[in-house]
Amino acid sequence: MHCDLGRAAASEAFHRAALDAGRESGGHDLQLVALTNLAGRLLDSAGPDDLRYAEIDALVAEADALALAHAQEMTLPHILVTQGAALLARGRLDEAQAAFTRWRAVLDAYPDKSSLPHAAAVLARLHCARGDVASARLALAEGIGMALQLGARTRAAALHLQASRLEEELGCFAPALEHHKQFHALREASAVDTAQRRAAMLAVRIETARALHEAAAQRQRATELAARNDQLAEAAYIDPLTGLANRRRLDEQLTLLHAAARAAGTPLVLALLDVDHFKQVNDRCSHAVGDRVLATLARLIAQQVRAGDLCARYGGEEFVIALPALPVDTAAQVLERLRLRVATEPWSALHPGLKVTVSVGWADITPAPCTGQGLAQADERLYAAKAAGRNRVVGPEPAVSVAMAAR
Ligand code: GH3
Ligand code: MG
Ligand code: MG
Repeated sequence: MHCDLGRAAASEAFHRAALDAGRESGGHDLQLVALTNLAGRLLDSAGPDDLRYAEIDALVAEADALALAHAQEMTLPHILVTQGAALLARGRLDEAQAAFTRWRAVLDAYPDKSSLPHAAAVLARLHCARGDVASARLALAEGIGMALQLGARTRAAALHLQASRLEEELGCFAPALEHHKQFHALREASAVDTAQRRAAMLAVRIETARALHEAAAQRQRATELAARNDQLAEAAYIDPLTGLANRRRLDEQLTLLHAAARAAGTPLVLALLDVDHFKQVNDRCSHAVGDRVLATLARLIAQQVRAGDLCARYGGEEFVIALPALPVDTAAQVLERLRLRVATEPWSALHPGLKVTVSVGWADITPAPCTGQGLAQADERLYAAKAAGRNRVVGPEPAVSVAMAAR
């Protein structure tokens, strides 16, 4: 098909791929066909001094040996024609003649005659080269007959054209014209064929391109939808002001952490953190500054804990921190460090004279039968921290940390 459409490079690439596939398959019949086809293709486009003859000879020799080894009479005549043609192209007439003598012997011994039309074209040239016009005419006539019998219209047309030129050179214009008419009629018929094939192929290509385009567009839409879904799912669990987990994620994650802690028998420290006198921040500075304080606090909290710890905005100016599998003393130190970090943050950068402190209540909630009870216990201690003067951390031992005069 590539060849018919004048795409020599594509045709050659196709034959090379076929040969690779044939060699990989290990099937000698496939290899033979591929070797013969590739050699023929290379020969079609080779000039008299072409470097490709070395490769053609090698392909022919390999195919010949393979055909003999596996008694592949079907393919052998085609190889011999290619061999003869390759020799003729280089003017090695005796060797070419020997190849055709072998060819004729094989052809006569087996029923398959499909190599004959091609052989006739080459043989006629060989006979002409030796000045044997009568044999050339006979060869062409035999080739045309067989080509028509085999339905090979393109080949028959080419043979008629070759015969027409031969007659013309010999000055026999009547047969030249007759061959030319035949050539024309066959060419027209096969051109219609080719055009139809080409149209069908183009239609398939258009349809394929459209389908590929549509598939790509659908993949793109699916990717966008999936990304949007992820964003929505993420948004459903994230507090937009602070970027921390929201109440919903807190509830889910805390239940899991609690179950894991109880199963492993490890502590799960749960802390409730509340901004001191936050209402005053809003009132004195502005609600916008209040928002920035909350966002800054969220950042400080996230900085002070480990990656696997759970930090969430519990609501308003209250945060929850869960520290799984950390000894309670260490957890207490983490919370105290956080309290200190908040108290010493240069808040005045947000608003002149601004100071912010937090109060924290915490409990190891592993022994609690449910997270709700654990939270209630932490909340009680938060209340105790507030009652004791704020800016402090209260755990199982009340008033663990000493109040700092932060405001
Ligand atoms: P305490 O030390 O006893 O906790 O005093 P407080 O003023 O912090 O407590 P209170 O519960 O009276 O006030 C909490 C304030 O937090 C009231 C509310 O306007 C404010 N608040 C809640 N959510 C937000 C928010 O998203 N942004 C801002 N700017 N303020 C908020
Ligand atoms: Mg509060
Ligand atoms: Mg408060």
